[in-house]
Amino acid sequence: MVNPFSIGGKWFKANLHAHTTTSDGDTVLAERIRQYRDKGYDVLAITDHDTTNDLTGFSDKDFLVMQGMETHPPCPFGGDLYHLVCLNIPQRMPFSLKADAETRVSLIKHGGGIVILAHPYWCGYNINHMLAIDGYCAIEVFNATSTKNGKAYSSVHWDSLLAAGRMVGAVASDDCHRGRDMFMGYTMIKAAALTSQDIIEALSSGAYYASTGGVIEDFGINGFNATIRCQPAMEIHFISRRSTGRSFYAESADKPLTSAECELSALDRYVRAEIVDVNGNRAWANPIVLR
Ligand SMILES: [Zn+2]
Ligand SMILES: [Zn+2]
Repeated sequence: MVNPFSIGGKWFKANLHAHTTTSDGDTVLAERIRQYRDKGYDVLAITDHDTTNDLTGFSDKDFLVMQGMETHPPCPFGGDLYHLVCLNIPQRMPFSLKADAETRVSLIKHGGGIVILAHPYWCGYNINHMLAIDGYCAIEVFNATSTKNGKAYSSVHWDSLLAAGRMVGAVASDDCHRGRDMFMGYTMIKAAALTSQDIIEALSSGAYYASTGGVIEDFGINGFNATIRCQPAMEIHFISRRSTGRSFYAESADKPLTSAECELSALDRYVRAEIVDVNGNRAWANPIVLR
């Protein structure tokens, strides 16, 4: 994975999961796009259920609207269908809705798109569900619409995948349907420029971090020493495989943490970072593999 804090480029704020009245959202396409543009986002992906939209004329040099779709192939273990967010796809349906998950993922990737596993906690997935399909580059570690039943945070699902050797990143998304689920989870993407190609390249390589408002300024590793800098935080966590890693807590809100470092060992295999800022907002940096 590429560490976004050690490469050049610009940061772009993105919501990668949004619905409109084309499927089960309450807001028409043009209005949904206006909402995110007015709020200062740089990127919005429109991801209606098993259908695409005509996005002609909505993107310009300051704002990128990406063609996307949330698709629902059956899960081999039964239960809930998969919820796969597909980005940078053609407007014409890229697969048959009878196709299984592997076929859909492979057709999306062959066409230059990427796939994100949406809200694994809300779907009730365990590690077997998540390992049964390959080819997605990230999961949603936070999904705003899943706050409606307390299942917005999927960090344990992410850690299970990482511990199993599946090095995927994590995004935070609104999955907005009705307005109560807007502007809560976003992804900061480090890319060369605001084009579909650069944004997709950054997302497939891991050059981004997820946030509900927390700001990570730097995260890196030197040998086995992990360091982080962030906006004032109450908690900083270095999270590695199984029981390894380390947490730091501010004594009080007037003495917040703005950096931390942690010595790791080869047994840790990888380290990711997670912060909780002074307002309770979180941010999640993608894992770095230890060598
Ligand atoms: Zn979904
Ligand atoms: Zn959705």
